[in-house]
Amino acid sequence: MKDEHLNPETMLAHYAEERGDYHGAVVPPLFQNSLFTFESWQAIDAAFDNRRESYIYSRVANPTVALVEKKIARLAGAEKGLLFASGMSAISAALLHFLNAGDHVITLKNIYGPANNLIAVYLKEKMNIGSTFVSGTDMGEFERAITPKTRLIYLESPTSATFRLQDIAAVTALARKHGLKTVIDNTWATPLFQKPLALGADLEVHSCSKYLGGHSDLVSGLVLGAAADIDAIAVRERELLGGVCSPFEAWLILRSLRTLTLRMEKHGQNALKVAAFLEAHPRVRRVDYPGLPSAPDYALAARQMSGFSGLLAFEPRLESLDKIRAFFNSLQIFQIGVSWGGHESLIYAPAISYLKELSPARFKAMGISLARMRISVGLENADDLIADLDRALTLAETGG
Ligand SMILES: *Cc1c(COP(=O)(O)O)cnc(C)c1O
Repeated sequence: MKDEHLNPETMLAHYAEERGDYHGAVVPPLFQNSLFTFESWQAIDAAFDNRRESYIYSRVANPTVALVEKKIARLAGAEKGLLFASGMSAISAALLHFLNAGDHVITLKNIYGPANNLIAVYLKEKMNIGSTFVSGTDMGEFERAITPKTRLIYLESPTSATFRLQDIAAVTALARKHGLKTVIDNTWATPLFQKPLALGADLEVHSCSKYLGGHSDLVSGLVLGAAADIDAIAVRERELLGGVCSPFEAWLILRSLRTLTLRMEKHGQNALKVAAFLEAHPRVRRVDYPGLPSAPDYALAARQMSGFSGLLAFEPRLESLDKIRAFFNSLQIFQIGVSWGGHESLIYAPAISYLKELSPARFKAMGISLARMRISVGLENADDLIADLDRALTLAETGG
């Protein structure tokens, strides 16, 4: 396929697939091999001279993995991409690429929990890397957090906890003015709906375990960016720390990319219907979904995103833990579980984790409702999902 402009659906179906190289097979083969063999001393010697373009050993490079990296990089408008064993291995590689011992990072109070732990605890203890956590909605707060040691701003927009946005172009402009790098977790929007590199970010990271995989059958991660950064991460953080994506996981992602545009459209349509239903429901106190016109960041979202995915949070008007549990347990289509972005609708209550460490009173004092529910709206029929929520809201109030 020529390198001409193709719309995302067409590109994802065909780009970078050299069918002539594999007997015309419509699905590229899975290169499930650890090493590659050579005909001679000279041939393997030449491969080592051109390591980034050669296949020698699958921790370094594998054709199935490389094909998926090329396709997603194209979708994101990135020069290059690298797949990893998980979203967290992608995030840690991106952070370690830019950070040195003693540096300082500015990030958000509500970033993904393990990323928060990595920055606030692990990098602090191991490398004395300092951090300042800001709200992300106030540019002045970013600017005031900059110290002489600051090296990096780490974003997640929308955040997967509060669904608030950061003004990506404004933050990256501030970062450039102060000589800082920016990394953004773009998992919620996917490379289809948001292009942070075009808005000035240095690196974009993803958990492919969510929408890029989309079928709840794999764990993987991704870093996207300029060739110089990606090539350095390939031979340092990925090759040396070794968090590589297995060929089989990459092959499953390739399968998933065929339907990415269809799935994301449907997740967005379903989530908007569910969010609008919840917003209008008398037994619901609040809904956090950036795709609702009433959302505080709706205007910014319209500027920097081209669509909305299916993860949101809401708060039923249920005052006792018993009633909250009754609601949660009455759902029949929404499955109880962590993670998100798969074909199936899921529900999780942050209180389940928090109450292990905090009393209900302390938890309430943090400003998070015990009743807060996070739902991942899947690909089922939206009317069925709405009926499921409606039934559970009624049951909880009357029978709980
Ligand atoms: C799940 C998730 C990650 C981590 O991805 P894994 O594939 O589970 O390691 C990172 N960021 C966000 C926003 C996530 O939801």
